[in-house]
Amino acid sequence: MKSNAEKSLELIIQLEKHNEQYRNMTALIGVNVADCIGEKYNDDGLVANRDKDEPCLNEWLKREEIESDSGYGNRWYWKAEEATEEDCPYCYAALKLIEQRKELKLKRGRVRSQITKLAKREILNRGL
Ligand SMILES: [Zn+2]
Repeated sequence: MKSNAEKSLELIIQLEKHNEQYRNMTALIGVNVADCIGEKYNDDGLVANRDKDEPCLNEWLKREEIESDSGYGNRWYWKAEEATEEDCPYCYAALKLIEQRKELKLKRGRVRSQITKLAKREILNRGL
């Protein structure tokens, strides 16, 4: 059986991996959104100038109220149900990343709560 110290270290490593993944996803979302409104160049010069002020993602995302059973009231949630890759490949890629990042956030929250539980148990054990 693993000691609490070993479990803690594994959880901390897991948390840092999630954090790293979260940062990478956020950066990639930014790149995709920038590509939506940006100018694209290849060796021959300008190949696309989408000339937009705002990414499509801003139009796609709708705030939706999610009923909560936590007793803290309902939550708001951003959703874009009707968007497709044909609408805009960049924003669609960003949207998929946002959805994945949401899942990752939940996973990260579970790791954090495990760390909290371990810490609280240790505080009790040590009489701190
Ligand atoms: Zn777009």
